Amino acid sequence: MSWLEHIGVSGVHAKRIFAQVYREACLEWQEGTNLPLKLRRHWTESWCKIPLQVSRVLTSNYDGSVKFVFALEDGYEIESVLMPETSRTTVCLSTQVGCRQGCRFCHTGRMGLLRQLTTEEIVGQVMAIEAWMRRHPDWNDSHHRGSRVSNVVFMGMGEPLDNLEALIPALKIMLDPWGLGLAPRRVTVSTAGHLDGLRQLVDSGVHTAIALSLHSPFRQERSRLMPINKRFDLDDVLDFLDQVTREQNRHCLVQYTLIGGKNDTLDHARALGELLQGRAVKVNLIPFNPVDSVAFVPPEPLMVQKFRDTLSNYGLRIMVRYSKGQDIAAACGQLIRKKQTRKSVSKAAATQVSSYVSG
Ligand code: SF4
Repeated sequence: MSWLEHIGVSGVHAKRIFAQVYREACLEWQEGTNLPLKLRRHWTESWCKIPLQVSRVLTSNYDGSVKFVFALEDGYEIESVLMPETSRTTVCLSTQVGCRQGCRFCHTGRMGLLRQLTTEEIVGQVMAIEAWMRRHPDWNDSHHRGSRVSNVVFMGMGEPLDNLEALIPALKIMLDPWGLGLAPRRVTVSTAGHLDGLRQLVDSGVHTAIALSLHSPFRQERSRLMPINKRFDLDDVLDFLDQVTREQNRHCLVQYTLIGGKNDTLDHARALGELLQGRAVKVNLIPFNPVDSVAFVPPEPLMVQKFRDTLSNYGLRIMVRYSKGQDIAAACGQLIRKKQTRKSVSKAAATQVSSYVSG
């Protein structure tokens, strides 16, 4: 805002620009009808460029989830998912092209880290999705939604806390009343247990909900599933989260993917219960989503039920959550792996942000 005023844009017009870009997802200058023509041209030519384009859109036949494949300016692709729910509209965002954490059950982890996303590319995912929602009232009507995103989860491609340089400014824009204006409890940063990043996020003063992917209460097994466990000890991560939840008087979310015959036994449930008992956590149990080329299988439905029942003996709040968008490979751990190189995506093939390509 002060920068716009500094370059001569009046306070009134600066406020209109912010409202139009962040509140109304108007990304084309022709749409900015309450601004002087000169400002609208200048805006679209130099200020309001979203550095990604919708390459493909796939809609789930089962739950209405929409997966967006975005082409970045250097040709890499990332994915984001729009999920309609009973009382909210959530988007799952990416923070990296690929990921260096190498979790063994995750498609993205097998890509390695190709590059970090910029702040503009992170916030741009929400803006492009809101622009799409605005242009597709058919989707909004069928899900009884407006054209705004109400919740953001950083559970797409990448470990968000491995890209704090871009993440923290992106969070500030999302939480700012002049930005996307989201409530802190409606923005969830998920981590595989990056303790250094957690400390820096908390020290930055940016408050959001935090989710920890845990996946095994046994240290050696967790290190095999999630190599980050060798770098940041799980006890240290949980102790730090205890401190944060105490100081900020809130819960932390624990994500536990149930993998058939691997981490879904009752021994695991009891050990997990003992590890989390007395902590301010809510537990999400997520049955594993099949991923090509990953040699794991989903759990038996009966095991999911027994696991939950056993865990509930420890006084924990538990939800079993089935990932959305499984039929369009948009569920947790399923986001793209196919070999990517810079400029591997033809610019001609990529469509404008506002285009709708039905999958
Ligand atoms: S689960 Fe998350 S942290 Fe682990 S490899 Fe996949 S994207 Fe990275």
